[in-house]
Amino acid sequence: MSNNHLLADRINALEESATLAMSKKSREIAAQGHNVINLSVGEPDFKTPPHICDAAKKAIDDGFHAYTPVSGIPELRSAIAEKLNRENGLNWKAENIVVSTGAKHSLANIIEVLVKKDEEVIILGPYWVSYAEMVKLAEGKSVILDGSFENDFKVTPEQIEAAITPKTKIIMYASPNNPTGSVYSEKELRAIAAIVAKHPNIFVLADEIYEYINFTPEGHFSIGSIPEIHDRVITVNGFSKGFAMTGWRVGFIAAAKWIADAVDKLQGQVTSGTNSIAQKAAAVAFTNMDAPKMMLEAYKRRRDLVIAKLKEVPGFKVRVPDGAFYAFPDVSSYFGKTDGKVTIKNADELCLWLLETAHIALVTGNAFGAPNCIRISTAAADEKLVEAIERMKKALATLN
Ligand code: PMP
Ligand code: GLU
Repeated sequence: MSNNHLLADRINALEESATLAMSKKSREIAAQGHNVINLSVGEPDFKTPPHICDAAKKAIDDGFHAYTPVSGIPELRSAIAEKLNRENGLNWKAENIVVSTGAKHSLANIIEVLVKKDEEVIILGPYWVSYAEMVKLAEGKSVILDGSFENDFKVTPEQIEAAITPKTKIIMYASPNNPTGSVYSEKELRAIAAIVAKHPNIFVLADEIYEYINFTPEGHFSIGSIPEIHDRVITVNGFSKGFAMTGWRVGFIAAAKWIADAVDKLQGQVTSGTNSIAQKAAAVAFTNMDAPKMMLEAYKRRRDLVIAKLKEVPGFKVRVPDGAFYAFPDVSSYFGKTDGKVTIKNADELCLWLLETAHIALVTGNAFGAPNCIRISTAAADEKLVEAIERMKKALATLN
């Protein structure tokens, strides 16, 4: 018998992370002896650059083994503040930075400290799986806006304006986006900022974790650099994607000091400072930008490869992502088709069927608020990507 009734309501109400769940399922099928290509979890397949690893080794050898200040070691907070001033036009000092255990932790911290019960968080969809669940945990309400396929999966300023109510607390988005790879342009972000400027009690939570994986000629733009709303923008970023450091768990927020102080207070009661060795490693990351540049080129090449291949799959509707490392085709033309035994009703079932029959692990768009799509991570070796799409195409051709 399940013991779920003994668990707190807040955990029973929470969905499991679909990205991590699919990855787990793919490991289970692989453990049965199948050759599974796992394109579910979004994780760089590169190694962390050597200058960062060297700093970590040195920290161990130097005995840097104790608790750190809750918000992070001074040299890391300063390095982050300098980067934000230099690259993003964000006018923050070290005191405005709080380092946490990955950007996921940073996002959860911000939602926890800002959102009061029943306050609304406008989420620009398609959105990353964990956003809505974090809002739920904080007893807030998610208001999800749909970015349509036709509009490059982006939400318009008009949609945002129409969704604002007296209860709106935060507008949150990721650009480059996970799962769509869409990039909000400076012009679009300025239009959003003009709306926010009219509402002094609304904050913007800008998830910039894919900042360095941006293929547009204009490059990345931080909404917080717009002076009228600078103090009401919380910028979240981290080292997982840009520096291939997913396992090190270092993320950060940059925000007005009163918000940073609130996050420090929360973190001081829940987790304390992030791993000391990982912080020493992250502190040197920005001193050598060769690896992010090299990875950007590789991700762009893979994007082009995957998109070209996906366009060959009959029935798929494909748009070209401008950043991050995901392809997000609309696969709805397969809904209602059957292999003679199972009828595939939706994207969840299509992903499960592809895992079981073709041994490729992807994530249903449903988890991201886009039920017609599936997400394919392109952060894998070229040969694996090609083989995965070939297998998928072959399997799909058997459906009627
Ligand atoms: N935001 C987005 C949009 C993501 O895709 C992820 C997944 N890595 C994160 C935040 C969290 O990253 P991490 O916790 O590894 O820093
Ligand atoms: N952000 C990655 C993804 O979307 C990592 C998995 C996770 O943290 O949920 O796949």
